[in-house]
Amino acid sequence: MRRNTDTQVLFTPGPLNTSAAVKRAMMNDIGSRTKASAELTSRICSKLLDAYDIDQAFAAIPIQGSGTFGVEAMLTSCLPATDYCLGVVVNGEYSKRMLEICGIHSLHFLPLECDNGTAIDPAQVDAFLLQHPQISHLALVHFETGLGVLNDLAQLVAVCERRSVQLLLDAISTFGALPIPFDSPAVTAVALSANKCLHSVPGIAFVITRKAALHSSVRRTLSLDLSAQWRKLENGHQWRFTPPTHVLLAFDQALDEWAHQGKAERRLEQYQRLNQQLVRQLGEQGIVPLLDARHRAPMITTFLLPDAFALSFEQLYKHLESAQLIIYPSTYSTARSFRVGCIGELLSADIDRLATALFDAATSSALTEPATHG
Ligand SMILES: *Cc1c(COP(=O)(O)O)cnc(C)c1O
Repeated sequence: MRRNTDTQVLFTPGPLNTSAAVKRAMMNDIGSRTKASAELTSRICSKLLDAYDIDQAFAAIPIQGSGTFGVEAMLTSCLPATDYCLGVVVNGEYSKRMLEICGIHSLHFLPLECDNGTAIDPAQVDAFLLQHPQISHLALVHFETGLGVLNDLAQLVAVCERRSVQLLLDAISTFGALPIPFDSPAVTAVALSANKCLHSVPGIAFVITRKAALHSSVRRTLSLDLSAQWRKLENGHQWRFTPPTHVLLAFDQALDEWAHQGKAERRLEQYQRLNQQLVRQLGEQGIVPLLDARHRAPMITTFLLPDAFALSFEQLYKHLESAQLIIYPSTYSTARSFRVGCIGELLSADIDRLATALFDAATSSALTEPATHG
């Protein structure tokens, strides 16, 4: 694959660069109530369950929207109506968002505030669960994309098993690249998105949930009600509201490419290769990751700008944008930093281009623009 230099290269997980075949798959208008449409949805749900060898106790349920819609659907649909308490482990922006969802829907929840710059300490979670035996469910984020912190899922699942707590997992930035232990009795529901590690276009999220966790009596929202969505899909593979047909066509193709290219293991290797190149080339310019390597994962990395770097983040962003290179527009650190994603259809040559553009920005601006730090 060669990239057109007049198209944008997205170092932003969602939206991200998609393959030509994924884009082409959308050049098709299909009716929402047709046989083709029904088969498309059921085929995609089967592919998702097959992707991680997930057994019949689970269902994959689609929901229109970005990843947050999936998380909100999971938290509002996969808890019983009464007699539950949701512990929420907070170690970054996306778990904070979970708290916001809990508050809006008046869920019964208890937060555990953890450090944002390090992986969650499983012993701290264990102590929290011991201290609050009323907690029946636990919500956490696998990979906190805000700063790029990878939590140790295997250990956290083991804690949930030991304390007989059911896990509701935000795996939006890991599904398709990292292992998820669906064979653990603690894993109850997992939210994922089509446009992170599965390399499709934005517009659809999924929750893979134990069928037993869906209670038809629980109705906290109309459009995000997974139980109602599932019943309708079981009854003839129809969505309740207009399905994003083009997005589904793209995702069907993206899932085939994912399987064909060697599934999660190969995809993670590809991210690691690109990320190692990125860290090396930026390191040569004194731009280093904010976090310790043991807390990181290659999907996204937060980099610190050295004091000598002449540009503010906004100036840097604009400079890169003019070169068709798009980095994350927001930063969740108080330090002078920026985030770079390594997911999507990215090439080694794209990383070269980013490193060169950063170098140009630093050297040319030092001569022409006053430094505006902060
Ligand atoms: C991307 C992401 C989400 C969803 O964000 P959207 O902006 O709604 O797509 C949720 N959780 C994590 C960990 C993510 O990386």
